[in-house]
Amino acid sequence: MRKKIFSLGGILITVLSLSAQNNNMKPEYTEYYEPVPRKVTPGANAGEAPSDAVVLFDGKSLDQWISVSDTTKPAGWKVANGIVTVDKKMGDIRTKQRFNDFQLHIEFLIPDYITGSGQARGNSGVFLAANEGGAEYELQVLDNYENKTYVNGQAGSIYKQKPPLVNANKKPGEWQYYDVVWTAPRFNADGMLITPARITVLFNGVLVQNNFELKGNTPYIGLPVYKAHGPSPIKLQSHGDPSEPISYRNIWVRPL
Ligand code: MG
Repeated sequence: MRKKIFSLGGILITVLSLSAQNNNMKPEYTEYYEPVPRKVTPGANAGEAPSDAVVLFDGKSLDQWISVSDTTKPAGWKVANGIVTVDKKMGDIRTKQRFNDFQLHIEFLIPDYITGSGQARGNSGVFLAANEGGAEYELQVLDNYENKTYVNGQAGSIYKQKPPLVNANKKPGEWQYYDVVWTAPRFNADGMLITPARITVLFNGVLVQNNFELKGNTPYIGLPVYKAHGPSPIKLQSHGDPSEPISYRNIWVRPL
């Protein structure tokens, strides 16, 4: 009990001396000028790539992407009219470049003539990191404007781990977008997890994942686990469901 009183007294003295210190301070004591944040020119319009972004798809070519099933081959999805459309015959595609932490912007369109239900309705996915052996993490793409499925498999979910905070889906036929802040997991030299992955997602400008700490990868079957990896490609999913394919445009990333 005496110890408790003593420690409370200690806190009180600290608070009093801190406030006395603050009384003796000038405004400039808490202002500093270096390092100066480097200049970045923002895009002219919302969603446009800022000056320091790596443009992954500019509407013209898929040069930054390759096929996942055969990484010696080009991505092979159809590019027309400034957009790229999933080709279910070609399978998943991934970036040539590998990333750790980043800010990502990506826009997608689920066609207004979409059919199917549940997970078989406009299913694709943005994998923030996708490595061989299943070390991959999916931010779900799906039509959930009016489509019931398991909530941790909805659009804006971290697949089978975390439902979106709210349903911010637009109608099929309208362009939608994700803005993502991704912090990659870190592993030590023995492959043990040091810090888990974290993700923040805005879906059509609405917060749906708020600095969520991932429990591991995002498998279809089974529980999440971490498997060690370094810098990783970003992957887009060609889902096997028969519903009409979806399209993407204006994809850029800012490595952090
Ligand atoms: Mg998916």
